[in-house]
Amino acid sequence: MAKKVRVRFAPSPTGGLHLGGVRTVLYNYLFARQQGGDFVLRIEDTDQSRYVPGAEEYIYECLKWCGLAPDESPLAGGPFAPYRQSERKELYRQYAEFLVQEGKAYYAFDRTEELESFRERFKTAENPSPQYDHKVRQQMRNSCALTFEETERMLADGVPHVIRIRMPENETVTFTDMIRGEVSFNTGLVDDKVLLKADGMPTYHLAVVVDDYLMKITHAFRGEEWLPSAPVHVLLWKYLGWEADMPQWAHLPLILKPDGNGKLSKRDGDRLGFPVFAMNWTVPGTNDLTKGFRELGFMPEAFVNMLAMLGWNDGTDQELFTLDELKQKFSMDRVHKGGAKFDFEKAKWFNHEWIKKSDVARLKTDVKQIFGQHGITATDEKLDKVIALVKERCTLLTDFVEQAKFFFQTPQQWDLDAIKPKWNDAKQAFFGDVISYFQNATNWNVPTDLENGFKELAAAKQIKPGEVLLPLRIMLVGGKFGPGVFDIAAVIGKEETVLRIKAVLEKL
Ligand code: GLU
Repeated sequence: MAKKVRVRFAPSPTGGLHLGGVRTVLYNYLFARQQGGDFVLRIEDTDQSRYVPGAEEYIYECLKWCGLAPDESPLAGGPFAPYRQSERKELYRQYAEFLVQEGKAYYAFDRTEELESFRERFKTAENPSPQYDHKVRQQMRNSCALTFEETERMLADGVPHVIRIRMPENETVTFTDMIRGEVSFNTGLVDDKVLLKADGMPTYHLAVVVDDYLMKITHAFRGEEWLPSAPVHVLLWKYLGWEADMPQWAHLPLILKPDGNGKLSKRDGDRLGFPVFAMNWTVPGTNDLTKGFRELGFMPEAFVNMLAMLGWNDGTDQELFTLDELKQKFSMDRVHKGGAKFDFEKAKWFNHEWIKKSDVARLKTDVKQIFGQHGITATDEKLDKVIALVKERCTLLTDFVEQAKFFFQTPQQWDLDAIKPKWNDAKQAFFGDVISYFQNATNWNVPTDLENGFKELAAAKQIKPGEVLLPLRIMLVGGKFGPGVFDIAAVIGKEETVLRIKAVLEKL
């Protein structure tokens, strides 16, 4: 019987979630949903020095915002709890000790200053940062170099120590990556990674293998930056006797800087003026804020859609996908090998398309919230009309403020410079007539009637409608933008329309 598919996203809670991390979540999620499998969120917090308070909560909120809920997590619980590695601390030592007994790992007693002097001693021009590996192992203070008795004595005396993997001197480790095909490494080039730290905490390398095994993970998708660690992990699966259960790996391509080469970093975002984190992240202590896509006004649907396309396509020109469509169409074998350059203009294009294609009811919740932050209050009925009128003009959800504020608040400033040069007494008089016409209009809710009446009035005064439409717009809106001016008049109401015309007439 085929094993039930189980995938995991295993972040370390060290800060805001980079968009590459969210894309890893997404590919995991899509694969799990497609295969009728489980999607596990495991918090990898064994490196206590890098732990940042609030980062875990941020991850939950981010997954919720994106609509990518895990089936099992520290919050949701599940059959393999606990899902936070720090709470599983006690169970890792036995595996590290087993590896020592098998001769696949060893105790290392080197003190910090010894490690520093080792680096100094072995440093050369070609090798500026020497690694702790088979070449130097015998010259260090560890159970490979010491006698059995010495080691036993030091252990009995409680001398602080770590456990390191003993990487073979010259073996080839090969595994099949779902994206890259067969990948091989020479073990001689990899250092003897620490598996268990002096405080008894496992390192990432040991914990990831033990937990993927215990949690019955069948497929492990993670960023390409983890590829160099893969030989260590593959060997651990083998040495622990679990090779038959090793998950299928997929190392996802990097998301690259828009300019130049290399992985897109937070610094690139700061430098080029766009977010790299999913949501705002404030560093505890310094209160340093890094902006996120959510607060900038991205819809989660657009954000997720954009991320899906950074490294995958369905083989056609289609670019807009709902999450449901992605669940049907996504396939690991169409994930690209090469990295994808991030393009913020394209990201905004996705958002604009999503705002256009979303219905008013969907947009209303977000727009209401953003309006609330800007002190704009609106009835649902009016909001419905306004959203329908301006959504085509909004690239970001936050654009609704600029594009729609005048529906709810009388403008305080007007682009009078756009009116004044061509203003004359005839136009002043014409708007006096417009006020009376509007005041007597009985069909206020029919914008085309208002428009026809306005144009007839202009014709009667031998004024070209084009010459008075822009002034009318500026009177109602404040500037040269917005949807149809009679649509605006219909929504703001007869009284307000007249008041706004009068207010500007006094200034001309
Ligand atoms: N904890 C690792 C990270 O922060 C997870 C890598 C993996 O998925 O194996 O990215």
